[in-house]
Amino acid sequence: MLYKRSSELFAAAQQVLPGGVNSPVRAFNAVGGHPIFIKEAQGAYLTDEDNRKYIDYIASWGPLILGHAYPPVIEAVTERAKKGTSFGIPTEVEVQIAELAVSMVPHIDKIRFVNSGTEACMSAVRLARGYTGREKIIKFAGCYHGHSDAFLIEAGSGGATFGSPNSPGVTQGTAKDTLLANYNDLASVKTLFEANPQQIACVIIEPVAGNMGCVPPAEGFLEGLRQLCTENGALLIFDEVMTGFRLAKGGAQEVFGIKADIVTFGKVIGGGLPVGAFAANKEIMSYLAPEGPVYQAGTLSGNPLAMSAGLAMLTALNEQPEVFDSLAKKTSYLHEGFDNVLKRAGFPYQINSFGSMFTLFFAEEPVTDFASSAKSNTARFRKYFHGMLREGIYLPPSAFESYFLNDALTYEDLDKTIGALNRVIMEL
Ligand SMILES: *Cc1c(COP(=O)(O)O)cnc(C)c1O
Repeated sequence: MLYKRSSELFAAAQQVLPGGVNSPVRAFNAVGGHPIFIKEAQGAYLTDEDNRKYIDYIASWGPLILGHAYPPVIEAVTERAKKGTSFGIPTEVEVQIAELAVSMVPHIDKIRFVNSGTEACMSAVRLARGYTGREKIIKFAGCYHGHSDAFLIEAGSGGATFGSPNSPGVTQGTAKDTLLANYNDLASVKTLFEANPQQIACVIIEPVAGNMGCVPPAEGFLEGLRQLCTENGALLIFDEVMTGFRLAKGGAQEVFGIKADIVTFGKVIGGGLPVGAFAANKEIMSYLAPEGPVYQAGTLSGNPLAMSAGLAMLTALNEQPEVFDSLAKKTSYLHEGFDNVLKRAGFPYQINSFGSMFTLFFAEEPVTDFASSAKSNTARFRKYFHGMLREGIYLPPSAFESYFLNDALTYEDLDKTIGALNRVIMEL
């Protein structure tokens, strides 16, 4: 049996962890079977508990942009750990990482560190509400901003109505303040602004969506959002938990040349430790406690262990900005290689990629929003996923996720991946 020890561990896990995991997508519910358990990882490769090796296209869902166990990060963490992991009192490393982040990202003066992307987005929205004195927010169907209540909302009938919760436990009271628009559809945003004059605190968006698979913004879409926010006195929040320090040093703001009012971070900024952050100009950040009235706090926020990992990661990216180019080239190479294999396959597919983000959709029409992403053939995806897994290629276990390339991947790894696809498509 290929995955013997993983299957034993998963059986044990299910006795003591709900669904056997600490985050739902890991349970393989979308693809069937059971998850592999990872023993260790180096560079671009994972090793599971059955000693099988995989080329990894998830990189812990994004953070490990330079590969697993990246030596400068590991060194920073081990050296730091010997001196104590948390004090709940300020440390120098918090100042160092804040100075570096502020120097790398455009339009931000100050940054607050938290422990996850969820916390960052939740706090950014509170800050936007406190700053504007307004209560409603606009988000886009298919965008994910963490699991706090205000974001777990899906469309009722069309984008122009009040949201309804898509998880039990989220109250109607919370849901009614989250308005849903369609990605790449400025008219849907305009309609919401017109129907709720002077009530929208902010628009929050993944500037390149990754949580409905990779969906890049259409030409002019982000510019249009910027303009609508400015005209209506609402803040524009770029959720750069996925794109921050991945698309470029300065994230999507730099790539698209658009100023967001608040930016959220996670994933890469922690180098593989639990870190999130949100940032803005001085004026907006002055509303945050203890400078201002909007409360936000955290016992382990900015702890020296996590900050050391993040500082080592950001330092590496700051000193080797060619990494972003290198990653984009590898992603284009994979995109072309997949295209060459799939165009002979005889079934419909779409590939979206941007920077180091990539998704193969088994869909007939171009994927530009949640509705078109949701039309993907999930049965074909399941076969594809398990076929690639057997070939030693680890992909996201869901049809609606982005792959995250890491720079430890070699062209030989990419060729192996394309070769694996060539064998697997026979079964699709
Ligand atoms: C991962 C992600 C989050 C949530 O971050 P966590 O650290 O998982 O809480 C928020 N927004 C986006 C865009 C993400 O990709």
